Amino acid sequence: MNGVEPPPPGGQRHVILCCDCEGTREQLRRVHRVLLHAQLPANFFFVGQTAEEMPDLVREISRHHQCESHTYSHPNLRRLSYTRQRDEIIRGRQAVEDCIGRPTRGFRAPMHCMNRDTVRILNEEGFVFDASRLYFRYNMGNLQEIDPTWFREWMPLYEWIGLKPRTAFRLFRLLTRLRRTCVLPVHPQYSGKTPELARALLWFLRDAQRRGVRFWYIDDWLKAVRGVPLPESGPEEPFLSKGGAVFREDVDPLPTSAAARTASP
Ligand SMILES: [Zn+2]
Repeated sequence: MNGVEPPPPGGQRHVILCCDCEGTREQLRRVHRVLLHAQLPANFFFVGQTAEEMPDLVREISRHHQCESHTYSHPNLRRLSYTRQRDEIIRGRQAVEDCIGRPTRGFRAPMHCMNRDTVRILNEEGFVFDASRLYFRYNMGNLQEIDPTWFREWMPLYEWIGLKPRTAFRLFRLLTRLRRTCVLPVHPQYSGKTPELARALLWFLRDAQRRGVRFWYIDDWLKAVRGVPLPESGPEEPFLSKGGAVFREDVDPLPTSAAARTASP
């Protein structure tokens, strides 16, 4: 099910930030702090193991962001049988929901790798949307498709080809000019890997806000743009960016490691 998006009022550009989380605590915290400083909404796709290993940080993030699941242990689902896929998907969702104490609605497959069994399971289990589909096309049944924009950070390539992080985010920036809605994958294990990378993410967010780009939670975007009726199940303290939101100067987006460990979050 993929509604046709109506033209944006006044050429408004939309960005949905999707964070796939299977990195370390420090990397996850860096991206969280940058978003906290920028007060911008995002959807975090947590691996079940992350929710079990760092429940305090996942809960803290869930206060401000929409949370979804990303399987239990981050396998390539295409290599698993229907039964094992089912176990990964259900167990992953359960772990996230047990941690944050509210239902989730969306799913993203690890490495964007899925097959027809994945789609069948997501439909059977009542998921509302899937944000995986990048390489393959399927009949998605009742699922709303949130197709990721083809570009992602490509962090592993930066050093190899000598690309500076900010240059990579300039590509993000170009995409947000070309496309009406950009669903941008942001990986804490990439964009939060070093302070320099996190600073590049912050630069991109500031720039997009200055240009009046509107940031969305997927739920709100589905309701407003596609007219999907969804009951309220959002974060307790949502960030609602209509563009030009104020950065919280009292939140240090990139504290040193020592300061980050003692400060909360
Ligand atoms: Zn992943």
